[in-house]
Amino acid sequence: MSNRPRGLLFVVSAPSGTGKTTLVERLVGQMAGLTISRSYTSRAARTGETDGVDYNFVTRARFEAMVARGEFLEWADVFGNLYGTSVADTELLLESGRDVVLVIDVQGARTVRHRGMETTAIFVMPPSLEVLEQRLRGRSQDSESAIRERLRIARQEVVSYVEYDYVVINDELVATVDGLRSIILAQRARLARMRGEAEKIVRTFT
Ligand code: 5GP
Repeated sequence: MSNRPRGLLFVVSAPSGTGKTTLVERLVGQMAGLTISRSYTSRAARTGETDGVDYNFVTRARFEAMVARGEFLEWADVFGNLYGTSVADTELLLESGRDVVLVIDVQGARTVRHRGMETTAIFVMPPSLEVLEQRLRGRSQDSESAIRERLRIARQEVVSYVEYDYVVINDELVATVDGLRSIILAQRARLARMRGEAEKIVRTFT
C-alpha cells in the first residue's frame, strides 16, 4: 500500500503576531495528507500550550545536545529561545507520503534552503505594521518591551519575503487559508509529483 510518493515539504514563515499558527492549523485541518512538523523549543510553555502538541518542550541543555548530535534539520535562536526542526521526525513524515509544513522563522527557512532541500517556501505578511501592532497588543500575552522587540524584529523580517516562492497577505483569515490551500494544491499537481499516477493512467489507454 505504501508506494505513495514521498511527501512535499513546505516552509511557512511570518513575523510573529501575523497569526501563522492559527492559519496553518486551519489549513492542516482542512487538507488530508498535510501535517505540521512539531518543533522542539527551549522556551517555557505558555498558558494553554501542551508538550507534544504545540511544541516538544525541552531544556536548553537537551536542545544543545541535540544540536551537537546533528539532530536538527535547522534550528535558530529566536527572541533568546532556541527552536528547531528534527531531521528524523520530518523524514519519517515525508517518507510516509505526507506533505509537511514547517512553521519556522526566516533564519530557519534560509538554513533549509542552503541545505539544498526541495521546498516550497511561503511568506505570510501582515497587511501593515499598524495592523501587526494591533494584533500583538490584542493578544496581550506580551509585556510592552516584548511587543517592541517583536515589532523591531518584524521590521527586519518583512523584507525577507523576496527569498520565498509565494507571498500571502493575511488580511482576512478565511481568504488567507484559501490562498495557502491553493498553493499546496498547485504544488501537488506539478508534473514531477503527478508523473507516476499519470503514467498509470496512460497505461490504461495502451
Ligand atoms: P513562538 O515562541 O511565538 O511560538 O515562536 C516564535 C518564533 O519561532 C516564530 O517566528 C516561529 O515561527 C519560530 N519557530 C517555531 N518553531 C521553529 C523551528 O522549529 N525553527 C525555527 N527556525 N523557528 C521556529
